[in-house]
Amino acid sequence: MKKGIFLAVVAALGFGIYVYAQDKAKSVMPVAKEVPKAMSREDAMKLTDEEWKKRLTPEQYRILRQAGTERSNGQIYKEFKAQGGGTYHCAGCGTELFSSKEKFDSNCGWPSFFDPSKAKNVKTRIDRSGFMVRTEVICAICGGHLGHVFTGEGFNTPTDKRYCINGTALKFVPANGAGTTQKKEGEQKPSKESEEKKGE
Ligand SMILES: [Zn+2]
Repeated sequence: MKKGIFLAVVAALGFGIYVYAQDKAKSVMPVAKEVPKAMSREDAMKLTDEEWKKRLTPEQYRILRQAGTERSNGQIYKEFKAQGGGTYHCAGCGTELFSSKEKFDSNCGWPSFFDPSKAKNVKTRIDRSGFMVRTEVICAICGGHLGHVFTGEGFNTPTDKRYCINGTALKFVPANGAGTTQKKEGEQKPSKESEEKKGE
């Protein structure tokens, strides 16, 4: 009898650890319940490489500060596709860059948007690296590399632009403050805050 209880406890503990590990492994893209406090441009520009290294994960540093590119169709892209309504902020400085309203499925393996949600926060510049001429997309506040933008590819979107963005450069803030697509009926309406921001 006692042995039975012992085994049941061991099994329950084991299951608990399994669930915990699954939960930990679930999200590569940071998900914040509240809109992060964005850094000022002045503060962001003051940060040294060493300070950025401390603030960012090695992968975020490689993408944002060294213009790296994440693996296509990776875990972060799967997460991005599953995310519901919300806003996307710079993982470096917290500035809002994109929202789910501009998100579309281009099937390219990286998060795609047809426009920034806050045009003033997203800058572009010519990138001549890799024997190509591309338009690089950067965060206007911290100068972090986000990805590239391609025009005229024939996507049925209002702009026919594809902002091909590294999910690693983003932090997601769900509109309902709750994570991914597992929403209950009646929770679909966007928050008052995101509606207000649209007008900015
Ligand atoms: Zn930034």
